[in-house]
Amino acid sequence: MAQHLDTDVLIIGGGLVGGLTAAALARAGVDVIVVDADDPETLLNAKYDGRCSAIARSVHNAFVALDLWDLMESEAGIIEDIRVTDGKSPLFLHFDSLDLVGVPFGYMLENRTIRKALLKTLPEMDHATYLAPKRVTKLDRSASEVNATLDDETSIKAKLVIGADGRGSWVRKSANIDITKWSYDQTAIVCTVESEKPHLNVAQEHFRSTGPFAILPMPGHRSSIVWTETSRTAPVLIGLNEDDFQAELSERFGDYLGDIKVVGPRWSYPLTLQFAKRSIDQRLALVGDASHGMHPVAGQGFNMGARDACAIAELVIQTKQLGLDIGAGRVLEDYDRWRHFDNHLMLASTDAIVKLFSNNVAPIRFARDVGLAIVDQLPFAKKFFTKSAMGLVGELPEIMKEREAS
Ligand SMILES: Cc1cc2nc3c(=O)[nH]c(=O)nc-3n(C[C@H](O)[C@H](O)[C@H](O)COP(=O)(O)OP(=O)(O)OC[C@H]3O[C@@H](n4cnc5c(N)ncnc54)[C@H](O)[C@@H]3O)c2cc1C
Repeated sequence: MAQHLDTDVLIIGGGLVGGLTAAALARAGVDVIVVDADDPETLLNAKYDGRCSAIARSVHNAFVALDLWDLMESEAGIIEDIRVTDGKSPLFLHFDSLDLVGVPFGYMLENRTIRKALLKTLPEMDHATYLAPKRVTKLDRSASEVNATLDDETSIKAKLVIGADGRGSWVRKSANIDITKWSYDQTAIVCTVESEKPHLNVAQEHFRSTGPFAILPMPGHRSSIVWTETSRTAPVLIGLNEDDFQAELSERFGDYLGDIKVVGPRWSYPLTLQFAKRSIDQRLALVGDASHGMHPVAGQGFNMGARDACAIAELVIQTKQLGLDIGAGRVLEDYDRWRHFDNHLMLASTDAIVKLFSNNVAPIRFARDVGLAIVDQLPFAKKFFTKSAMGLVGELPEIMKEREAS
């Protein structure tokens, strides 16, 4: 027999951002139903997603506040130092977070580790229901409520629907919200290596004319690699046999950590920028990649989505506590005002970095090297960039702020 469910918030998409939104809401007593199209077993399978995410200090703070961090900490790499180089130029930019601000920049986590923590926590929360694998087949939004029907005929009544269903968002399409999108003609090759020498919690980003090459510290001697190539070359590299792939990778990696060995599979991700023309509609808000997807050059896609998650959760929680309508236009407009500038600034910044660094034009190369060298000599600028990378600049939701150690 078909089930009828009633909730405050329906979240479509239970990935990193949808899961975090649900945890933040349910923890504060807001009833939430999460619907995800994929089976949890599939989502946690090592083959599902090869990505690791550099999470900023602010996202770590939210994970701590929501009791998620304890489930992830043992699997987190620590980023204490960032080095940026431009091709073979001897000039580089160096940020030491312990020196500049006294705490790590952030952490490296497999996306799978974040999903595992969310999928363990959400079903145990009093105010959260996680339904998967399920799809919404019909979504009606009126001035007073949201009504959804799932593929098993379950009907759900809610006051607000949140679209957290990634770049191809069904929710966004159902609301006829267009996107602006362009391709970088670059593909990210993602894999993990084990090195002979320890990485000492240093993240390296080398800008090459074909795109950035990042070496990111994971626990032990492991590093996660995000190796960008043109979309014509990447499939050729991905298709190489083990020895040849290892040789190509070693040539770009260098020998500063001794011998390296590729461990585990290789993945590839075509790189595009996209953003929704608007992130709200009647009783609807978009969060994370459903609203904006960016180049991973600065490792900010999930970090921006996490800010969306914590911002919409904070507004909904405050509105519910006042006994007001959580799906009202005023709440959604506040959300849009809060997140629009930050998201668009990050989209524009990552786009500018990719375009400025992914070329070999001599005068541009000279100008950017001089720029790197100047910033490296300016303590105030370095402190500002450090705090930005830590996600501690701008108007932060409460659960993302730094707390005094108790
Ligand atoms: C190579 C690479 C490296 C990156 N590195 C970083 C990094 O270091 N730091 C960082 O912050 N970001 C990084 N990112 C970006 C980050 O991975 C994404 O921004 C993040 O995963 C977006 O999360 P999301 O929950 O919005 O979307 P997704 O992770 O795409 O999740 C969407 C969820 O919705 C579900 N879904 C889809 N359609 C439906 C439907 N119709 N109904 C129900 N459920 C549905 C899916 O099953 C999935 O669970 C990187 C990206 C790439 C490509």
